[in-house]
Amino acid sequence: MVPSFPGTNTPFLLMSETTIEKHTFQAEIQQLLDLVVHSLYTDKEIFLRELISNASDSMEKLRHVEATEKDIHEPTLPLEIHITTDAEAKTLTISDAGIGMTREELVKNLGTIAHSGTKAFLKNMKDSGSTPGNMIGQFGVGFYSAFMVADEVKVHTRSWRAEGEELVWISDGKTGYEIEESPGQSRGVKIVIHLKEELSEYTEETRLRHLIETYSNFVGFPIVLNGKRINEVEALWLKNKSEISEDEYKAFYQFTGKAFDAPAYRLHFSADAPIAINALVFAPAENPERMGFGKVDGGVSLYSKKVLIDANPKGLLPDWMRFMKGVVDSADLPLNISRETMQDSALVKKLGEVISKRVIKMLEKEAEADPAKYRGFYLKFDRFFKEGIATDYANRKSLAKLLRFESSLTDAGTLCGFTDYVSRAKDGQESIYYLVGGSREQVESSPYVEAFKARGLEVIYFTDAVDEYVVESLGEFDGKKLVSIRHGGVELEDHAPEGDALSEEKTTELCEFLKAELGDRVTAVASGKRLVESPVIALVPTDGMSPQMRQMMKAMDENFKDEIKVELEINPRHPLVKKLSEAKDANPDLAKLVALQLLDNALIAAGLLEDARDTVSRMNTLMEKAMG
Ligand code: ADP
Repeated sequence: MVPSFPGTNTPFLLMSETTIEKHTFQAEIQQLLDLVVHSLYTDKEIFLRELISNASDSMEKLRHVEATEKDIHEPTLPLEIHITTDAEAKTLTISDAGIGMTREELVKNLGTIAHSGTKAFLKNMKDSGSTPGNMIGQFGVGFYSAFMVADEVKVHTRSWRAEGEELVWISDGKTGYEIEESPGQSRGVKIVIHLKEELSEYTEETRLRHLIETYSNFVGFPIVLNGKRINEVEALWLKNKSEISEDEYKAFYQFTGKAFDAPAYRLHFSADAPIAINALVFAPAENPERMGFGKVDGGVSLYSKKVLIDANPKGLLPDWMRFMKGVVDSADLPLNISRETMQDSALVKKLGEVISKRVIKMLEKEAEADPAKYRGFYLKFDRFFKEGIATDYANRKSLAKLLRFESSLTDAGTLCGFTDYVSRAKDGQESIYYLVGGSREQVESSPYVEAFKARGLEVIYFTDAVDEYVVESLGEFDGKKLVSIRHGGVELEDHAPEGDALSEEKTTELCEFLKAELGDRVTAVASGKRLVESPVIALVPTDGMSPQMRQMMKAMDENFKDEIKVELEINPRHPLVKKLSEAKDANPDLAKLVALQLLDNALIAAGLLEDARDTVSRMNTLMEKAMG
């Protein structure tokens, strides 16, 4: 029987009697390596950032271990990252004094994919066929990026644990790796990269120095290149605003956010009460979830007095804020807080509350100061705010101020917000009127809008598929109820009538006639004040679904059936209605046809007609009659 390695299905062969183990990579790792080596061609240089970041992570972990464990191997090793080059041997070596790895950890960490994010990354790369090198770090393929430049990688390591072994992991990044003993290795990891023939540039000191300064300047440990210290270890978030240049802010954003763009907005503040906070957070310019990468992880890390507590702290910020990047440092936070207790910590909760409030306020101010810039930002990030309104009760009201939309009073393409709406509202106007539809054109041409336009009442046009749900979650703004004008029951003031109307008596008779002809298809027929130019309008009951919601229900459930019943409102001033009133006595057959057709027309205008077969044949009959 071929023995397999503990905790894996990887069989290993004992090549020599004691020391060499041969392993094959898990299938996914082979796929990953293939992608990394062949597809991410253009962004080769990021391998250095990835390996430095792993070294730094490992030393951060060591600090945590130090807080709780006594028996640490080589406890006095300085926590530094050393990089050395050897042009002749074509090697680049990166070493740290972090937690290192045991034999089991080598196999688990460098031979299998545990990270679900990495699997998602792989799938995405395959599906889209694209090569977004700037995404690589976010999905935990970091270490394997070494194979973009190497034809062989050796990972020498010694775990912090007293009983650890001195080992080396060796691979050409093709099918598998070997693990051997590496006598003399000190605690941590030393990665020796043997560069590919054509990539000797990565032994040039100036090239490496530039890369480190570009990507790794804010790493929290000294980086020493061939004996010379490179980076400034500086907690920018603790410095005074006036001492930080725009370029430094940008570099810091790119470093913490693993980003390549410039941030759209930033918030840098400190507070002492109710808790000590130093925060430096950024809103990026690009939304990664729009590039087809699915939900991203949170990008704001939690520190306590410059020591990283958690790079992706759950429960700190509300989920919808996951697009934000940066650092939050609180000196009040105990260093040994664990990931598990973090979610329940009242302190972490309070921190999150303070920060999310400040971020929303900051965005509100920025939007006011430069609406054009905010418009561009909003069009990329609006879904996060909408998600927040639906899920984050505490911030719902303030988030509503960040929403933008078009309305009956804006030009196409111009956005406004609820605050603008309220400032323009008529005296005594208790409601905010809106209509949800597929596009501005569709909403604007619907008969619902007429009556509001005629009275000078502004109607908000919501055109995003999720808007209906969002507005319903919101319910009101600034004490004014949000009212869909698609529904019956909207009270409008009388509007100065234009032209002669049918008498009240005749109107009542006509309504009765229509109700009798249309039967169950309508809940009621009444004369209304809404209409100006259309003869009739179909109103959806307040508890009824909008056409968008119906479409969604149908898409989800093919058996979905919901009989549409509408309330028909007629316009007693419209010539067609007046003629129909005469025709119902003079030519009842024609009047019946027209009644049915009027209802269908109203349903079409409302986007509610489901089956048009009867409509078309009736229309033909009507045309025949019209032509005698
Ligand atoms: P990630 O760092 O995103 O988890 P990587 O592919 O870069 O993914 O690394 C895989 C794992 O290998 C890490 O999670 C870590 O456990 C281990 N590892 C990598 N580099 C080091 C290092 N320098 N010291 C200790 N462990 C490391």
